[in-house]
Amino acid sequence: MAYKFVDNYREKGARKRLVDVLRKKGIADERVLEAIGKVPRHYFFSETFWEQAYKDIAFPIGEGQTISQPYTVAYQTELLHIQPGNKVLEIGTGSGYQTCVLLELGAKVYTIERQEKLYERTKWVLPVKMGYKPNFFLGDGSIGIAAHAPYDKIIVTAGAPLVPGILLKQLKIGGMLVIPVGNEKAQKMVTVMRVAENDFEEIVLDTFRFVPLVGDKAW
Ligand code: SAM
Repeated sequence: MAYKFVDNYREKGARKRLVDVLRKKGIADERVLEAIGKVPRHYFFSETFWEQAYKDIAFPIGEGQTISQPYTVAYQTELLHIQPGNKVLEIGTGSGYQTCVLLELGAKVYTIERQEKLYERTKWVLPVKMGYKPNFFLGDGSIGIAAHAPYDKIIVTAGAPLVPGILLKQLKIGGMLVIPVGNEKAQKMVTVMRVAENDFEEIVLDTFRFVPLVGDKAW
């Protein structure tokens, strides 16, 4: 596939229109919208499909996976209330689009992907073609990455059957997990805040449809 890593007025204009669409759909955090407005999403698409990049849709990225819909990325990011310097664990790197948005907000990102081909491609595209430098890991993120815990925030970008307790233990006190939970067809977005060592507050929000989280503490 032919990829063209250039960002001209055509792509910038399309990106601005996407930001307007997200604002109209209810994304209110201007910092999140600004971050979305900076990331060249067409870099994750072959040149033939570049126009799909700025539609508010998920799109296949190979290996049976998808780049998340911009609205979903904005929605999860808004819930996290990322502050510059926050240590964030992202489970399900995929294309790396969500990773870039987190980095634009000043987070220090640890991102893990279980599919080797996606891991290899994203580990190359983000730093080499885009200048984004998260910490990449290959493996099962359903068990988190204990070696780098605790995290201020954890974001899961695939649908889980339940909230893995092992992830909650990797949150700082005051930290937050955002995870879609449900069956294969639909999941509710869930936030869990660690308010004290053994005290967690859960909120169940809107319905989404994600690819499955596959692993030891997942499907
Ligand atoms: N935000 C990403 C993007 O925009 O490209 C989303 C990628 S996709 C919706 C979810 C990803 O989670 C897939 O790449 C899938 O391989 C990955 N995944 C599923 N289960 C996983 C696990 N246990 N550990 C790490 N990654 C996992």
